Amino acid sequence: MATYDLIIIGAGNLGLWTAHQLAQRGFGRIAVCERTWAGFGATTRSAGVVRQQGGSETAIKLGIWSRERYISLGAELGLDSGFTETGYYVLAESEEEKAAFLDLVTLRRACGMENEWVDAAEGRKRFPGLDWENLLGATYTANDGYVHPPIVARNITFAAARQPTIDIFEQCTVEAIERSGSAFTVRTTRGTFTSDRVLDAGGPRGARRIGAMVGVEVPVSAARHLVVTYPDVPPFPMFFALAKGIYVRPEEQGALLGLSNPYERADPSDRYQLDFDWDYFAQMRPAWESVFPALAAQRVSRSWAGSIDYTPDHLPIIDQPLPGFYVLAAGGHGMMWGPALGMKMAELIVEGVVRDLPEDEITLDRFAKPRVHKDAIALPFPTT
Ligand SMILES: Cc1cc2nc3c(=O)[nH]c(=O)nc-3n(C[C@H](O)[C@H](O)[C@H](O)COP(=O)(O)OP(=O)(O)OC[C@H]3O[C@@H](n4cnc5c(N)ncnc54)[C@H](O)[C@@H]3O)c2cc1C
Repeated sequence: MATYDLIIIGAGNLGLWTAHQLAQRGFGRIAVCERTWAGFGATTRSAGVVRQQGGSETAIKLGIWSRERYISLGAELGLDSGFTETGYYVLAESEEEKAAFLDLVTLRRACGMENEWVDAAEGRKRFPGLDWENLLGATYTANDGYVHPPIVARNITFAAARQPTIDIFEQCTVEAIERSGSAFTVRTTRGTFTSDRVLDAGGPRGARRIGAMVGVEVPVSAARHLVVTYPDVPPFPMFFALAKGIYVRPEEQGALLGLSNPYERADPSDRYQLDFDWDYFAQMRPAWESVFPALAAQRVSRSWAGSIDYTPDHLPIIDQPLPGFYVLAAGGHGMMWGPALGMKMAELIVEGVVRDLPEDEITLDRFAKPRVHKDAIALPFPTT
């Protein structure tokens, strides 16, 4: 039976960034137990959009801190970070959206980032490839961008694996957790581990089940999310048609488009989401072809579906619901927030507090109260 100072369940972006940040702080021995391979969950299936233009204080700050950390990790490793800066337009189609977006510009600036409102006439000059006819304008940040998810997984796995205090166990499924006094016994397919601290970083297809092993309800669900790529599109900045649930970014010499069906329901099974919804794709195709005609003449070059995580308010969970038992979840934004979530979880584990983020946007007990905040700039995922 191996004993560690912390057992992290899940080697996705969140679990690995937490391990890395703890090692940076000189924390003790860490075991990372991963059911399949590091990065093989939602992380490498994602679209990799890194948007600082969040819809709440927490969303904004996590985006700012994560972008910085991706870049600095690349420099630290002597490898490229995988982050590409493109600029990002979040499009407003209605007066309600415009009013909400203008408030968010003020909040984002107060959080220390650059963000501007661009009206449709100005937008037409800056980004003529977009049809601004039915748009009122957009918010814009020049240093938003995207990461290549496989490069993110490579870098953070390498950063964690090279630390002498971190052991990563792949093909190591956690099957049960027993609690006795302050100690946890974690039973896995690769043997039994003990520790006074366990972190649930199981992502869309694990966080809820791992919480249930110790009687903690973790409201992380999984829903199908769709991504396609197009082979050949002249360079363009990223954009997000929030009301339509569609975002587009450059991908190599082409484009990548992500979309979620708001009527999709949570998938409680443990199955991989491999079934691409071509009917919904065909239904929505006119929506993006009308706003970005460059895609209209294109054939799809790749397509995939994946399980995306979501919480009821699309905000993260950074909490310790039981002494020594921690929960970390990204609310569907684990690429744009992963590094900062790892940093904040390390802070909670080492110092016992999470600083600089509003408690009612990160703790588990918020879900038992009437909703106050939510991330206003999130895809229209299912809410149940
Ligand atoms: C198609 C798609 C597109 C997306 N696009 C974006 C985007 O553009 N920007 C963005 O910010 N986010 C995006 N996301 C969301 C993002 O990918 C996730 O929020 C993020 O990867 C979550 O990271 P994680 O570490 O929590 O989960 P994962 O990467 O899923 O890692 C959790 C790990 O836990 C392991 N695990 C689970 N149960 C057990 C167990 N019992 N024992 C051992 N190990 C276990 C799993 O095998 C998995 O590897 C997208 C997601 C999808 C599916």
